[in-house]
Amino acid sequence: MIERSPGLEVWSLLCGRNAELVLRQARKLSPKVVAVADPRFAPSDVLSGPDSMRACIEGADMVLNAIVGFAGIRASILCSKLDVPLALANKESLVTGGPLLGDFVRRGMIVPVDSEHSTIFRCLAGETKRPLGLLLTASGGAMRDTPLDELRLADAAQVLDHPTWSMGARITVDSASMVNKAFEVVEAGWLFGADLEIDVAIHRQSIVHSLVRLADGSWKALLGAPDMRVPIQYALQWPEGELYPVLEGDRPTGWEELTFERVDNHRYPAFETIVSAVVDDHSYAVAANAADEVAVEAFLQGRLRFGGVVRVIEETLRRHDPTGLVDLETIESIDSDSRAVAEEVVRVLCL
Ligand code: MG
Repeated sequence: MIERSPGLEVWSLLCGRNAELVLRQARKLSPKVVAVADPRFAPSDVLSGPDSMRACIEGADMVLNAIVGFAGIRASILCSKLDVPLALANKESLVTGGPLLGDFVRRGMIVPVDSEHSTIFRCLAGETKRPLGLLLTASGGAMRDTPLDELRLADAAQVLDHPTWSMGARITVDSASMVNKAFEVVEAGWLFGADLEIDVAIHRQSIVHSLVRLADGSWKALLGAPDMRVPIQYALQWPEGELYPVLEGDRPTGWEELTFERVDNHRYPAFETIVSAVVDDHSYAVAANAADEVAVEAFLQGRLRFGGVVRVIEETLRRHDPTGLVDLETIESIDSDSRAVAEEVVRVLCL
């Protein structure tokens, strides 16, 4: 995509461990800085270690943060400290660190890459009246038609077979449990205002990428085949860069019918559990994210069945002591405490 995008140049590339991939990309894109954050995986002539992230961010015009999970929060906070605009694909940055990034959002320094939020961001552009609300669409995930009594025992192979989007393993599991959508509701609150009415509907075709309800009650949406290059390009070229037609052959006559269904709490119990806990206190979002990361890893390793993921989240939230979030240290200590609780619940469930 970078090669096809006029005016885009890669300043730096940072990965966690996959040195081979990042070096291959570097040979193609000739960035000024290349780094492998984890020294155990870095070749001796490649920048590495705790300061490598800062070296990658400093001097860039914009940073694309696509780190997976809670680990991404440090990059987002560093962008806010260094005042570098952020194309944000790491939703955990706002899910867990929203209170620390709220000011950065209000200053217009974060452009969302999450497809639903990118859509809302685009639909709000040019609107001068405050909207009535937002509707996030959800595919419903790979288990959306599995009989309820079979859901609990489903394994990773079944859950990873996503019907419309091709994504990483964790987000595909989170899509099936709708934990991902619960986090996206929290993310939307930080990006667009928690006082807005934020609703969710199952939209099986993944053509409508979310909707905004305007002041007069009408709906505005962005439609197109599901392809992450659309929101990535939009964010990287924001506000004035040139866009090329990613979805060249996509035509409405090729779409199926478009349907919208209510979320069934029996099928997706974790969704309501997380959303209502976070309304009580934001720190529940940090605990839920930690529990989910632990539970999904155990699930992907075959140590838990699908029903176990929700139980780990519920139990971790039940044992969480809500606390105001003041700084990154507090957030990190809630994260590590919640991981320990979640690990313990996983062990009990495995017995
Ligand atoms: Mg999304």
